Amino acid sequence: MSKPEHVVVVGGGIIGACSAWYLAEAGYEVTILEQAKFGRQASHGNCGYVSPSHVMPLARPGQVLRGLRGMLSSETALRIDPSRILSLAPWLLQFASRCNMKAVMESGQACHPLLQSSAQLYRELFENQGLEVDWHEDGLLFVYRDEHEFREYEESDAWLRKHFGVAAEPYRGAALTELEPALKPGLAGAWLYRCDGHLRPDRLMSELRRILTAAGVQILEETPLESLQQTKGRATAVVTPSGPIEADHVVVATGAWTPLLHEQLGVRLPIQPGKGYSITMGRPERCAWLPMILEECHVAITPFADGYRVGSTMEFSGYDASLNRKRLDYLRKGAAEYLLDPLGDPVTEEWCGWRPMTSDGIPRIGQAPRCRNVWIAAGHSMLGLSMGTGTGKLVAELISGQQPHLDPVPYRIS
Ligand SMILES: Cc1cc2nc3c(=O)[nH]c(=O)nc-3n(C[C@H](O)[C@H](O)[C@H](O)COP(=O)(O)OP(=O)(O)OC[C@H]3O[C@@H](n4cnc5c(N)ncnc54)[C@H](O)[C@@H]3O)c2cc1C
Repeated sequence: MSKPEHVVVVGGGIIGACSAWYLAEAGYEVTILEQAKFGRQASHGNCGYVSPSHVMPLARPGQVLRGLRGMLSSETALRIDPSRILSLAPWLLQFASRCNMKAVMESGQACHPLLQSSAQLYRELFENQGLEVDWHEDGLLFVYRDEHEFREYEESDAWLRKHFGVAAEPYRGAALTELEPALKPGLAGAWLYRCDGHLRPDRLMSELRRILTAAGVQILEETPLESLQQTKGRATAVVTPSGPIEADHVVVATGAWTPLLHEQLGVRLPIQPGKGYSITMGRPERCAWLPMILEECHVAITPFADGYRVGSTMEFSGYDASLNRKRLDYLRKGAAEYLLDPLGDPVTEEWCGWRPMTSDGIPRIGQAPRCRNVWIAAGHSMLGLSMGTGTGKLVAELISGQQPHLDPVPYRIS
């Protein structure tokens, strides 16, 4: 029997881990290269939603105005650091050009199949591999305090139903507090997406590590990719501080860091770090049983079996890894406006991470222009968890030359 081909997956987040899993299943020898610790960056403290309902990208009508407001205040969910405006300008202009319904439809059509396939693949993975990740398919609630905004969402619901078959149910008054007794009475209403699920992201990453290791995948931590050795349009090895590692194929799943590798990859991808925060704590006494997005402040609530997370906000401030206390307070204040017991004890983690934000919300998955055996899987924006399994499977199919389970064209690098 011939020796299996060796794939080096660069990046130990959800996208690298899922790619490694499906590649190992397809018979490849796989090594994951991680510059820090496996699963500790964006894939660690996120809100844990696996959300096929999230078809609409961030770039949509009205966002430019919100972004401008967010340059003047730290009391908004979307914040742009004014001192970064020049370096962000090309990305922001691309983003602004997508804030219309034609572009929203195009992004939705690209992301919908990947979201659908990923949700199904997660179910199969959890069942077949016995993964314990605190997985629930109870749905996701979009909660409104403001009557006008609640009613206005009807239009988005109708649009999502018509074009993507994704439908929500409205709840108001006593029906809403009966459904979710943790909410304060007197809110305007909520829309429930039953198609969504949620899990505990850090547990997902540790369970993936367990099955990857059992499948023979080697995980090298504190080992950054420094460069690629290339000959005649092919990468022959990845270069690390401890020396080169030979590879037949390379998958670059480096999330928000991907643009920093533009010289190696031969392409400048439109990805910016979109910083988000979360606070993880013990469950409050009257804990929500449904995950929910508090729509006016865009704060997300995720109940876990043995914990509770308040998260979100979007800050464009470059590669700044500091924890901004004002942003953490923003999460606490937001939760207090909607929930009877908004916070729990003790706080176990205050965290921030960088979403790999593309200007159009479409991830980039495909062959790098410079080397035909280098594959990029990055730019999953606010939905990397929701798109993890579908992306990993697609990467394995593209490398092995199998018929892809979904059309790869919308994600290609060109
Ligand atoms: C507050 C918050 C809430 C979120 N909530 C959700 C949610 O509910 N649902 C959802 O679907 N998505 C959510 N997201 C988005 C999601 O977390 C990301 O889209 C996803 O984690 C991106 O995964 P990734 O593997 O591409 O990136 P990462 O998890 O960041 O992994 C990339 C890895 O590459 C490594 N790396 C980078 N450069 C190199 C190099 N040169 N050499 C070696 N390694 C390298 C990094 O160290 C990192 O570990 C949320 C994000 C945030 C911040």
